[in-house]
Amino acid sequence: QTHFVSLSLQAKMSRPVQARRLEGTDKNIWVEFVKLAATYSKVNLGQGFPDFPPPDFLKESFVRALSGENHMLHQYTRAFGHPPLVKILAQFFGKLLGRDLDPMTNVMVTVGAYQALFCCFQALVDEGDEVIIIEPFFDCYEPMVKMAGGMPVFVPLRPKAPKDGKLMSSADWQLDPAELASKFSERTKAIVLNSPNNPLGKVFSREELELIADLCVKHDVLCLSDEVYEWLVYDGKEHIRIASLRGMWDRTVIIGSAGKTFSATGWKVGWTVGPNRLLQHLRTVHQNSVYHCATIAQEAVAQGFQRELELYGKPDSYFVQLPKELQQKRDWLVQSLDAVGMKPIIPEGTYFLVADISKFKSDVPDVPDSDEPYDSRFAKWMVKNKGLAAIPLSAFYSGAHKNNYNHFIRFCFAKEEATLKAANDILQKWKQEKTSP
Ligand code: PMP
Repeated sequence: QTHFVSLSLQAKMSRPVQARRLEGTDKNIWVEFVKLAATYSKVNLGQGFPDFPPPDFLKESFVRALSGENHMLHQYTRAFGHPPLVKILAQFFGKLLGRDLDPMTNVMVTVGAYQALFCCFQALVDEGDEVIIIEPFFDCYEPMVKMAGGMPVFVPLRPKAPKDGKLMSSADWQLDPAELASKFSERTKAIVLNSPNNPLGKVFSREELELIADLCVKHDVLCLSDEVYEWLVYDGKEHIRIASLRGMWDRTVIIGSAGKTFSATGWKVGWTVGPNRLLQHLRTVHQNSVYHCATIAQEAVAQGFQRELELYGKPDSYFVQLPKELQQKRDWLVQSLDAVGMKPIIPEGTYFLVADISKFKSDVPDVPDSDEPYDSRFAKWMVKNKGLAAIPLSAFYSGAHKNNYNHFIRFCFAKEEATLKAANDILQKWKQEKTSP
């Protein structure tokens, strides 16, 4: 009897419990590096979130929603977005795109941009469909395409060294037009565009966007346009929405995030904007998975957008002030890194910056024939030995390409002055240790 029970238990245990769609998607850079940062970092410039507070007007809106008369804000709201939020998003994006948007069919609120992406892939990608992803990329695109049964097809941004020894800019990383065109075929269902781009901070130019748009139209391909950093653009650069280019509205889903827009990543309010012919299918995924995110957070974000609509383009607008403040922080970090020889690539947008660690190789020797890319080992060594957390650039490349650019790390500069100063102190001390015998 005992023998029989243990045998049948064994038989049950030996059968794979996980669904096949999870194959190859179990490793996740954030699980590993968030834990390392929590354990060892004194200064955390790793994961992308501000350590300064969201603007007062937003916090006040949240408190009003929480403790005001309307106690229904503690209950469920409309699944596809709290009505005040979808209405203001339709108005706001309608203005940006120069198009009348219907709040009920052209906008859907999601649990952060993350769930917006998940809905896109689940709703629009079929078994065997190819999805073009531009490297380096926000890492979740690849597993999300695979979980939908799709095939990611990668095309790299290729760096061109700037002339006359200047620091490189994210604009020096470009697509090769012929290479990009070669990735489109009748199997291509969609391309993921992320401008401004995490991790490089590249802001795609009009010409680059037109190149992508022309290929999308020619091959009848959808564009999933992750624009979560749309307001974080520097040096007077312009964020251009690919949906505004000819032929693109009908085939583009715009993805946004209140987390990035209002410096409140923990609220997890995101959205999609697009034509009903695409959004109707996103709604199907949404209604059969999460229903919606916190009503109070949606209400507060709606009020934040109401304020921003009234102040649009004016100096008091948060969307004008935030990039100004961040540009200064970018410049501080650029200076800190350049001063110690960790060459920064100057980002045109986002709150990330990628730096070249080649000159620090003597501190963290390479292990030949290791499976782990050099930058990953370097980032782990740095947080353990120097207390400074950053993310290896290889985390933003697909499996086969992780060693293509493996001597860079990404820093987040959406941090208080004191945090950036503490990072500078660590770097300076490190440099002195390197130069003194
Ligand atoms: N897209 C990109 C490019 C991101 O960098 C992030 C957050 N790091 C997200 C989407 C997810 O945003 P959210 O926090 O709103 O889910």
